[in-house]
Amino acid sequence: MPNTNYMMSLVDREQMQGLENIREFLKIRTSYDVLPLSFRLIVLDTDLLIRKSLAILIQNGIVSAPLWDSHKSAFAGLLTSTDYINVVQYYCQYPDRLGDIDQFRLSGLREIEKAIGVQPLETISVHPMKPLYEACRTMLKTRARRIPLVDVDDETGREMVVSVITQYRILKFIAVNNEHNTVMLKKSVREIGLGTYTNLQTAGMGDSVLSAIHLMVEHNISAVPIVDANNHVLNVFEAVDVIPCIKGGVYEELQSSIGEALSKRAEDFPGIYTCSEDDRLDSIFDTVRKSRVHRLIVIDDDSRLRGMISLSDILMYVLLYGEENDAVSPDAV
Ligand code: AMP
Repeated sequence: MPNTNYMMSLVDREQMQGLENIREFLKIRTSYDVLPLSFRLIVLDTDLLIRKSLAILIQNGIVSAPLWDSHKSAFAGLLTSTDYINVVQYYCQYPDRLGDIDQFRLSGLREIEKAIGVQPLETISVHPMKPLYEACRTMLKTRARRIPLVDVDDETGREMVVSVITQYRILKFIAVNNEHNTVMLKKSVREIGLGTYTNLQTAGMGDSVLSAIHLMVEHNISAVPIVDANNHVLNVFEAVDVIPCIKGGVYEELQSSIGEALSKRAEDFPGIYTCSEDDRLDSIFDTVRKSRVHRLIVIDDDSRLRGMISLSDILMYVLLYGEENDAVSPDAV
C-alpha cells in the first residue's frame, strides 16, 4: 500500500519548489521585461473633462490611463474604473449636481473622493528597471490591480510615464515563461484554499447596475457574479462594465438592469472563465497562459457558484505562501 503521507509530502515539496523558482524568476526580471516589444500608451491630461475621458477610453478600447499634470509637468496618478465608480457615488449623493458633474475635469477627481468620504488612493508607481518582484509586492500591499512604471528623463530630470503593468500581464508573463515551474504546482484549488468562498456577493440579471456598483464599493471587490434563483452562474458584472454605462453622461441608465448593461459589452469580450475546486493550480496557469482571464468563477458540477478566484488571490499565493509568518494577507505584505 502506498504511503500517502510520503506522497503528500512529495507533492507539497514539489509545489514549494515550483513557487520558489517562480519567486526567483520574479527577482531577476524587471517590470520592463513584462512590456511587449511595441506598445502604445495613452496618457490623459488632468485638465480633460471627465466626460471626455470616458469617450477616449471607450474609443481606444482601454479601461485605464495614467494622468499627467501639465502645469507641474508631473505624473498625477492612474485613472481607473474606480474613479468612475466614485463619480457615480457622487451622483447618488448629490443628484441635483448633475450639471456640475458634466463640467468636472480629471483634476477634480480628488475633490469627488473628498465629497463622498473616500480615502484617496496613494499615487503609487514603480521604476521599470526594479525587480518585478518589488512591483508585485507593492501591488499586493496597496491592493492595486495595475501599477504605472515611472522613470526620470535623463535630459530634463522630469518624471516620465513608461507604461502600466497589470496583475493580468504579470501572471501571463509568469505563465508563459515558467511552464517548467508551473507544472510543479499540482495541488488543487481546494487544497491550497485559493480564492474566496464565504460571504460571496452576487446579483441577478434583473437587478440594477447601481445595486451591483454599491456591492462592489461596499465590499471592495471588482466583480459580482450574476446568478439565477438556483445560484447557477450566468455571467459576471465587472467594475470596467460601469464605463459604457455612463459614457453619455446619462446617469439614469444606472437604474437599468445588469442584463441590459451586459448586452453593451464590446464584441471581443473574452467571456467568463470558470473552474472547479478540484482543478489544480497548474491547470489554472494553463488557462492564464492561453486566455485573457481576469478572474475565475469557481463552480460545482451543476454550474452553481462556489467561489471567486481573483488574479490578486493567485498573485498573493504565488508570492507569499510559505513565507515567514505565512503572510498571505495584504496587511502583512
Ligand atoms: P478583486 O476585487 O477581484 O481583486 O478581489 C478582491 C478579493 O475579493 C479577492 O480575495 C477575491 O477572492 C474576493 N472577491 C472577488 N469577488 C468577490 C465577490 N463577488 N464576493 C466576495 N468576494 C469576492
